[in-house]
Amino acid sequence: MVTVTDLTTAPDASAHAGHAAPHGHQASLKDGLAFVNTLEYDRGRVKEHLPTLDVALAWLFDHDLLHREMREDLTARLAGDPTAEERVLRRIGRVRAAIRELLVASVEHRPPADRSLGEVNRALRFHYVTYLVPAPDGVSLDHRHEGDPVEGALGRLTESIARELTQGRPERLRVCENPECRWIFVDTSHSGRRKWCDMRTCGNRVKVARHRQRRREEHPVSTEVSDSHS
Ligand SMILES: [Zn+2]
Repeated sequence: MVTVTDLTTAPDASAHAGHAAPHGHQASLKDGLAFVNTLEYDRGRVKEHLPTLDVALAWLFDHDLLHREMREDLTARLAGDPTAEERVLRRIGRVRAAIRELLVASVEHRPPADRSLGEVNRALRFHYVTYLVPAPDGVSLDHRHEGDPVEGALGRLTESIARELTQGRPERLRVCENPECRWIFVDTSHSGRRKWCDMRTCGNRVKVARHRQRRREEHPVSTEVSDSHS
């Protein structure tokens, strides 16, 4: 039996870079993290990159998680049914939030909230089935989707994170230390001590804020004056 786990143990660990493998259809870690970061915190303000179901389905399609026919079929089926659209969109948001909680919990070395774990485990139940088919030079891998295509896509995104947390390098996962950002990323630096998603933006902002705070503590009066002129 070919399990999904077997498919991810490619010798070149290509699952860690770029998009999903061409035929297996599993999501890469990059896809999983990109999904979580579609709810972005920019200077404390929430930026929703999946504001409508149409946009969300387009995102899944662009990340090779939905076939074109499935997307068209879904769009046709849900068109004119705002309640159903809303339900699917909310489901996507709930799974995304649950995955984030799992990642943050791992970074903070604590168990995740029960509800989030339950949500993630529900998402993990949905799968595509892989099977081998004859090819001119041996066999190749084919797959079949079962059940709801959005659930299938969420299952694969969830799986990409679950795989990293249990078999990958969870110690390299980071949540940007800028409290107004919280971007989730993999620290690929040599030292493994990267704290911010981007040194030029978040790193600088946090450093400037800390510097101001220190000056205020050390020279409460002079800082007030210099701040009012800056
Ligand atoms: Zn950041």
